[in-house]
Amino acid sequence: MKDIATAGRTKQILADHGFSFKKSLGQNFLIDLNVIREVLDKADIHEKTGVIEVGPGIGSLTEQLAKRAGKVVAFEIDQRLVPVLEDTLSPYDNVTVINEDILRADVPEAIEAYFSECDEVVVVANLPYYITTPILMNFLEQNLPIERYYVMMQKEVGERISARPNSKSYGSLSIAIDYYTEARVVQHVPKTVFMPPPNVDSIIVEMVRRKTKKVDIDDENLFFRLTRGAFGQRRKTILNNYMSVFENGKEHKDTIRQLLEAAGIDPRRRGESISIEEYADIYRKIKNFPG
Ligand code: SAM
Repeated sequence: MKDIATAGRTKQILADHGFSFKKSLGQNFLIDLNVIREVLDKADIHEKTGVIEVGPGIGSLTEQLAKRAGKVVAFEIDQRLVPVLEDTLSPYDNVTVINEDILRADVPEAIEAYFSECDEVVVVANLPYYITTPILMNFLEQNLPIERYYVMMQKEVGERISARPNSKSYGSLSIAIDYYTEARVVQHVPKTVFMPPPNVDSIIVEMVRRKTKKVDIDDENLFFRLTRGAFGQRRKTILNNYMSVFENGKEHKDTIRQLLEAAGIDPRRRGESISIEEYADIYRKIKNFPG
């Protein structure tokens, strides 16, 4: 039988199961084996790798993962896809499909239950684009024992994730991802490899979890409040943006200016010019500031 990730087999599967796409769930299925194989090569998937997939769809990527990995656990929210996946993935005994919303799933429990025989756990996914950021942040904030991520996403989100200071895409998301991982764009993906083709261009991003976080922070909530706050309005200076980060910020303008200066930051700089190490310096000066 032909592989699932081909236009012909995909059309056949959709017809056999009377399946219609739900746009609201970001359903764009891969119909190009070359793209999938390139990703799996880069991800270095082998028989001792345990893979978590988010949103298997009809199993296009899952099938190729199952051929290479020791174990694949795939979380799919759409109940209508469960019987489809039972059918399409029936030749593979190393796949478990869990019919759950990935944002509500107990991923640590799944790792413990399914990957005890594996040497490493990797996430590979063609993500539902409408919730790419919450899915990634949810994985990263839980500090899960996941070594690497290979994720397909909307181009603009991928550029924000991997952006460096002084670029138009750099923002609090770039900093949060850089805190937990080393991220880079590995491949651009044309619209034609999906059925139906999405309205946006796509990109594959590699994220390798850092063994130690990029900067030493004990109150991550405050640190991320400061990084997000610096981009409240991109055109404003960091000092002016920080007026709305703190309660009664305007009254404390002079103190905040002094704290920024003490951290070696010119208060007239904009958030987009400040590196993660500099945000850590700001955090260390500001963390004892009441408000
Ligand atoms: N992996 C398949 C492929 O590449 O052909 C499908 C990818 S499609 C872009 C995204 C998939 O994520 C869909 O199957 C959709 O139903 C599923 N999905 C959407 N939201 C989800 C969620 N919150 N949790 C788990 N799966 C979700």
